[in-house]
Amino acid sequence: NTFADIEWGDAINMNIKRCKYVKPTPVQRHAIPISLAGRDLMACAQTGSGKTAAFCFPIISGIINGNHPPNKQRGTRTVFPLALILSPTRELTVQIQGEAAKFAFQTGVRVVVAYGGAPIHGQLRELDKGVDILVATPGRLVDLLERAKVSLQMIRYLALDEADRMLDMGFEPQIRKIVEQMDMPPRGIRQTLLFSATFPKEIQRLASDFLSNYIFLAV
Ligand code: AMP
Repeated sequence: NTFADIEWGDAINMNIKRCKYVKPTPVQRHAIPISLAGRDLMACAQTGSGKTAAFCFPIISGIINGNHPPNKQRGTRTVFPLALILSPTRELTVQIQGEAAKFAFQTGVRVVVAYGGAPIHGQLRELDKGVDILVATPGRLVDLLERAKVSLQMIRYLALDEADRMLDMGFEPQIRKIVEQMDMPPRGIRQTLLFSATFPKEIQRLASDFLSNYIFLAV
């Protein structure tokens, strides 16, 4: 029931200390062990529940400890992130990127953000510096895929944050297009974490389409 009970490795332990997180929140207490065990997860989580850390820490830990091919993408035209976090709005993507970057401090894991309604050039330049975790809104990511700037072939972790809000905003076609690209061969093993405040039929359908053998967590 403390963060110290989990074998994170030194870098993440330091970052948890730096953030002054002492006790996991309820969603973290349950979601983190499930995620670290490699299971797909659909979790009920409101804003303020600590959900961002609940999906970021296991992803960062998985990237650090996983046997991933070296990220030799600097300066190449197309970048190949290992993890994708989809969120509905610019504000939320920026917030997630800020938190994830703190959690990944001095781990070598690089977090880049891409959202619509802003010029793309700065975002392209950030991607050119390399990206392990991409935090994006669905519309802007589709744009990056169409430009062949981003490839989802190497994605090992997919997190959908505020999935109900993304559907309310009409992003379902974009989300399906994005996940379709991840499912194209050669398809690696992908772990999917879906967070939502509500669970209407549409969310349950997304879960059954995108998640495999998942655990449903309501805290
Ligand atoms: P979120 O629900 O992810 O938007 O997080 C809400 C706020 O709680 C953020 O400011 C986090 O930095 C903070 N937070 C997340 N987890 C913890 C924790 N275990 N202990 C203290 N604060 C936390």
